[in-house]
Amino acid sequence: MTFNALQAYQEIWGALLDEEFQEALRRASTISQVRVEELLAERRELVELCREVAGIKRRSIDTLEELVERAYRSLEAVRAKPYLAGDAEEARRIIGGLVGSGKLVVMAKSMAAAEVGLRGYLESLGNEVWETDLGELLVQLEGSKPMHTTTPAVHMTRYKAIKLISEKLGVKLKGDSVEEAVKAVREFLRGKIVKADVGISGANALAADTGAIILVENESNIRLVTSTPPIHIALVPVDKIVPTLLDAVKVAIVQAAYTGLYPPTYISIIAGPSSTADIERVRVYGAQGPRELHVVLLDNGRLKALKDPLLKEQLRCIRCGRCQYECPVWVHTANKWGGPAYGGPMGLVWTAITVDPIEAGKLSYLCLGCGRCDASCPVEIPLSTILRHLKTMASRSS
Ligand code: SF4
Repeated sequence: MTFNALQAYQEIWGALLDEEFQEALRRASTISQVRVEELLAERRELVELCREVAGIKRRSIDTLEELVERAYRSLEAVRAKPYLAGDAEEARRIIGGLVGSGKLVVMAKSMAAAEVGLRGYLESLGNEVWETDLGELLVQLEGSKPMHTTTPAVHMTRYKAIKLISEKLGVKLKGDSVEEAVKAVREFLRGKIVKADVGISGANALAADTGAIILVENESNIRLVTSTPPIHIALVPVDKIVPTLLDAVKVAIVQAAYTGLYPPTYISIIAGPSSTADIERVRVYGAQGPRELHVVLLDNGRLKALKDPLLKEQLRCIRCGRCQYECPVWVHTANKWGGPAYGGPMGLVWTAITVDPIEAGKLSYLCLGCGRCDASCPVEIPLSTILRHLKTMASRSS
């Protein structure tokens, strides 16, 4: 996947002039910042836990290559089928081969899927594909990209969201009731999920010791997507691998807390396809849940980033999106300030790792170097220093 910083600058300019975009961002940023600050002030144990998670992620990245091998073996042991995708194209090819064409595919929100351009690719193979996270569905209906890591439709007002749902899903909605909109989407998506051939998810973490995937959410769409269709495919970036199941759950809790979601409504642990041994102890795969679980471990520049002392630091990122809401630039641009999938402080570094460090560096010139992102990051990533590093790379290349 390629992208061009100049085009991104043009889109940023358009976003700055878009009053509705600015109004939606202003509201969402204020609400999110206050919610997380209050939560962390009230529950100091979460601050302690995030220090622990920072240590877990640091140790994981230091032994990442070994963890990838362990995870691979553990996935096989629980009857999941693992794959290692070197880049975005290979990930698309593997998943495209598993899905085929003419299928109904439902997707749970996944930035990794956005990173490899998965939805568009599966559609190009002749599949009907639906995002099931409400924010991600709105982004799909708009034909844009996620504007925040955990809240993809952060740039939309309720009026815009309701208009999209009414016009694109052919649902009659009266007035500006968010409740009615959510109900209409629920009915529409339920109809798709129960008939889907394949469910695709990402993961918040993957435990190398057990091959268990951890997914955290509040909508319950992930539960449905990963348990209703007969085939579940999980696309998991290798930096999400941690040594143990307990480590993985801790990562998921901290990630949820730093998005303001505590307690998380749902945490799913998936270790292999569904099965039963209730008749004469004969193990049969495909009980009420999927009969096949395919796990695609995505490298796409991450293992190479291990060799750069600063880019390596980013591999600890748990995608909470805190640094985005804290950033005085991002709160006006959202992910327009970024690459094809990711944006803001964390997003520029992920773009450098997964797409192009020079183009990401050219966009990093907008960074003010205030350091608010560094101070807000639960896993202590020195984002402003890495962005300075990217600026230097870009200026040396010109
Ligand atoms: S860089 Fe830190 S604050 Fe930003 S998304 Fe990643 S973990 Fe969260």
